[in-house]
Amino acid sequence: MSYVDEVIEAVVQKNPAEPEFHQAVKEVLESLRVVVEANEEKFRKDALLERLVEPERQFKFRVPWVDDKGQVQVNTGYRVQFNSAIGPYKGGLRLHPSVNLGIIKFLGFEQIFKNSLTGLPIGGGKGGSDFDPKGKSDREVMAFCQSFMTELCKYIGADTDVPAGDIGTGAREIGYMFGQYKRIRGVYEGVLTGKGLSYGGSLARTEATGYGLLYLTKEILKLNGKDIKGMTAAVSGSGNVAIYAIQKAHQLGAKVVTCSDSTGWIYDPEGIDVALLKDIKEVRRARLTEYKKAKPGAEYHEGKGVWSVKVDLALPCATQNELQLEDAKQLVENGCIMVAEGANMPTTMEATEYLQEKGVIFAPGKAANAGGVATSALEMSQNSERLSWSFDEVDEKLQGIMASIANNISDAAKKYGFEGNYVVGANIAGFEKVVDAMNAQGI
Ligand code: GLU
Repeated sequence: MSYVDEVIEAVVQKNPAEPEFHQAVKEVLESLRVVVEANEEKFRKDALLERLVEPERQFKFRVPWVDDKGQVQVNTGYRVQFNSAIGPYKGGLRLHPSVNLGIIKFLGFEQIFKNSLTGLPIGGGKGGSDFDPKGKSDREVMAFCQSFMTELCKYIGADTDVPAGDIGTGAREIGYMFGQYKRIRGVYEGVLTGKGLSYGGSLARTEATGYGLLYLTKEILKLNGKDIKGMTAAVSGSGNVAIYAIQKAHQLGAKVVTCSDSTGWIYDPEGIDVALLKDIKEVRRARLTEYKKAKPGAEYHEGKGVWSVKVDLALPCATQNELQLEDAKQLVENGCIMVAEGANMPTTMEATEYLQEKGVIFAPGKAANAGGVATSALEMSQNSERLSWSFDEVDEKLQGIMASIANNISDAAKKYGFEGNYVVGANIAGFEKVVDAMNAQGI
């Protein structure tokens, strides 16, 4: 059996009931096969892949908090510090009822390569909890965040591990967590990113993941001799990534006609109204049924369905495994030419393979959504020098970073004989720097 296959099998055996982690490891190691097999003996002797798939450290902790009725609730918190070869652990905190160790490990593993691709000195980590902020009062969210940070603050710091937002963790949650860190540790430092602008946040961080997704999409289309201007797009999700992806797509001359939430989806042939969407999701924290009420020309449908619409571009910005084989078939049938992942691993492995087989350009999340964490690293830089840069300065750097990611993943794919396969390109380009640093630092 080849070394790659042995390691994949061992991961499955050793980490039972963690299907998302298995999927992420398989997807990455499959694309590294060419690199590993060219130097198999050394890789095996150094146990390089075994070291890569084993987190350096992982924490699981109790998070008790008091709800508005005076009842004590108990959630589980996680922080996985996956790999610090190229910098302090960096990655978001997901708050969602589906969160478990396997999901945090898959996200932490992906984060290693994504963070490496940004070209900035950040290692890979991820955390979160099965707490559901949906339907909770501000006070309940604060109580949870304070309890969560009371434990987490023992393991993080501006030069060791710097968490940020993810699904369920936005500006409000980061604010409550930052306050609690400072209260307990007594240190004012850039221990979290995605902070508010009044206390050390970076301009353009809020927009960065969505904007970065579109910058990368535009660049990859350009490498393929195509122009994004005039294209139509389907977006899933209606959170921070989706909102700013839609906004930037419109600024670049494309038209986004869909968005979705956990209960239904919108088709708006005139193009999604971003101001309305922001008001519904960020101010009112309401459902997408409100969109239809405000704009009767749009359609609202229950359940899933954004991938059934005829579009040139598909931008999944909701959550893992939301774009499945059947969806991929519909997209291909309707003439879709590119899929770029705004979320982490939103496309199943079968769907990814099918899309690539059919010649659809496929930009994986670890490249396509890296603008968020890249701008987090820029926030860390600003905190270190106790300065803040203008919106344009940050946005310009973000555009530069996304353009070099596009070129690097394209070149890495070409170098190993997989021209146009950006999945292979992203995994190899991200891996090379991490492995080099791991080797240099010894066992
Ligand atoms: N949660 C985001 C991601 O998946 C951002 C992480 C960060 O800014 O540290 O990359």
